[in-house]
Amino acid sequence: MTIHALKHGLALCGAGRPVDWPEGDRWVSYEDHDAREQATCQGCLAALGPALRWTVHLTSASLLAPPDPAWPRLVLAAMAKPPPWVIALTRGRPAHAFADGADERELMSAAIAERANPLLSQGGTAWAAYAAALDARWSGLALEQGLAPGTWHWMRHDTTWRPDGYPRSRVPGHEIGGPVRDGAILVCTCRPREGCHLRILAPHLRDAGWDVTLYGAPVP
Ligand SMILES: [Zn+2]
Ligand SMILES: [Zn+2]
Repeated sequence: MTIHALKHGLALCGAGRPVDWPEGDRWVSYEDHDAREQATCQGCLAALGPALRWTVHLTSASLLAPPDPAWPRLVLAAMAKPPPWVIALTRGRPAHAFADGADERELMSAAIAERANPLLSQGGTAWAAYAAALDARWSGLALEQGLAPGTWHWMRHDTTWRPDGYPRSRVPGHEIGGPVRDGAILVCTCRPREGCHLRILAPHLRDAGWDVTLYGAPVP
């Protein structure tokens, strides 16, 4: 029996799709950092190295297909307070990846109000202030490696919460779910054409060492 590493449905070694393989051959996802070490195919193992640059996908929860148990992905809600339908779709929340603290929360509320009102949004001042605050924080985190592949973590939905309603995202301990992994999907409930903090986050993740897609398109 050969165990291949599968990327986008195809063996990394070039052997094609699982249905075309000899009976008994198996596969592990190249994105599954625990399982992929079980690969035994020499061609797949040789190709695994170059394939390992990590990618994170930023998208709208409304665009996501239901989770497929045969293709496990780490789907995370990049929201301070995801609604129940998003919690059902996701395993937890990526640390730092949303408005944190009372100041940013105020800026976010103003920015969303501005987005909802075309008259308000003509100047875009609330969005600019919100983006500037997030830019400042995420620039520091990218430099400190807080967002870097392997060091960036996610929190389970049952994370303890501070009295002001925000998760204890900077407190190490039981709430950490694990590292944000290659192939992880971060979702928000904003629609793709709306202003969303994921657009502001994308270049910071790229600067921290990730390959990033935003609504399916690579972020250059
Ligand atoms: Zn193979
Ligand atoms: Zn959003």
